Amino acid sequence: MKKSVDPAYGRNSNQYARSYAHMPLAKVLAEDYTERFGRTIDPATDIATAVGCTNALYCALQGMISPGDEVLLLEPAFDVYIAQTKMAGGVPKFVPLRLNPSRTAATSANEAFILDMEELENGITDKTRVFILNSPHNPTGKMFSREEMEKIAEIMERYPQVTVIADEVYEHIVFDEVNSPHISFATIPGMYDRTLTLSSSGKTFSATGWKVGWAVGPPHLVHAVTSVQQWVNFSAATPNQDAIAQCLVKAKEPYEGFESYYKWVAEEYKRKRGLLCDALRAGGMEPIVPNGGFFIMTDTSAIDLPAEYLEEKTVAMPTDPMPRDWALSRWMTKEVGVTAIPPSAFYDIVNVPLAKNLLRFAYCKGDDTIIEAHKRFKEFFDKK
Ligand code: PMP
Repeated sequence: MKKSVDPAYGRNSNQYARSYAHMPLAKVLAEDYTERFGRTIDPATDIATAVGCTNALYCALQGMISPGDEVLLLEPAFDVYIAQTKMAGGVPKFVPLRLNPSRTAATSANEAFILDMEELENGITDKTRVFILNSPHNPTGKMFSREEMEKIAEIMERYPQVTVIADEVYEHIVFDEVNSPHISFATIPGMYDRTLTLSSSGKTFSATGWKVGWAVGPPHLVHAVTSVQQWVNFSAATPNQDAIAQCLVKAKEPYEGFESYYKWVAEEYKRKRGLLCDALRAGGMEPIVPNGGFFIMTDTSAIDLPAEYLEEKTVAMPTDPMPRDWALSRWMTKEVGVTAIPPSAFYDIVNVPLAKNLLRFAYCKGDDTIIEAHKRFKEFFDKK
């Protein structure tokens, strides 16, 4: 383990942090990203910390776009992207990841969800200012491959007005480092100067409540974040930043018989992924096995949904009649006692039908919760 950063430096942390980032955390991050990006990351100018990735993204969008500018999103898209784009006066534009029609039960999320590069390019207009690339992807669990990223980069070369925001909050929750490694878009040749990489400690350390996130990139993009943060929070909580600086150093040390905490956490989630896939199969569904992150998009087309659930009226209904995935989620909650997120919440209203036969389940849960879900699915379907 490297000893060049001494986190004790910041332990006296009752006062506001430096607005850009608490320096002990900036130094640990700079060291880490220097290694990963293969270029020198300056802790003073190339790192901004924030109240979670959500706050880093909010500041980035407020700082980068003007009213009427377009932000290109891949559907299904984390709902925060849509709301924050609108709050900045921007217009979200969507390019759907399409379900591979020839997928089988063995096709993992990487190949099950396809980005059509022509559709991506057609989504870019004169008004496009930002493209958000989330890998590993919420909610599909897809991890974009180097080949896919290189094709995206080729397109981006033709549109110099577009900045890429790479949301990598699930970067350490990945299951096959050989065949499906996590790739940072900023490391694709020619892309560093136009990419702002976002991440957070929340998912990696199962500590979402700490709300420590960050942005890494060239000074002009990091400045877009800090110039807004100056007037939003001024800085993220100093004790939390200080603690996360120490966690990041400790995470590289051996842990629970593994080479590092990072290896352990990935293996833990891989095991939980297996438990949840088994539970979903017991529930008559076909999980689309995720390559990263902790969500599973599941094919529900084999479930026979009672028609009255589609006719129900609820306050939050996005369409009339209710989308099948919403109705199915209500049915499952009431009849089986297991709740999933209806993924149409991650689609633009015109593309809601794409989520018709899908539900999103999460395995960032205690084993007992996943095992209980398995039991409920089995009992319900055995009765039928
Ligand atoms: N990005 C993605 C893709 C997420 O799924 C989440 C949390 N659901 C976040 C960002 C938010 O990160 P944070 O908790 O650090 O604000």
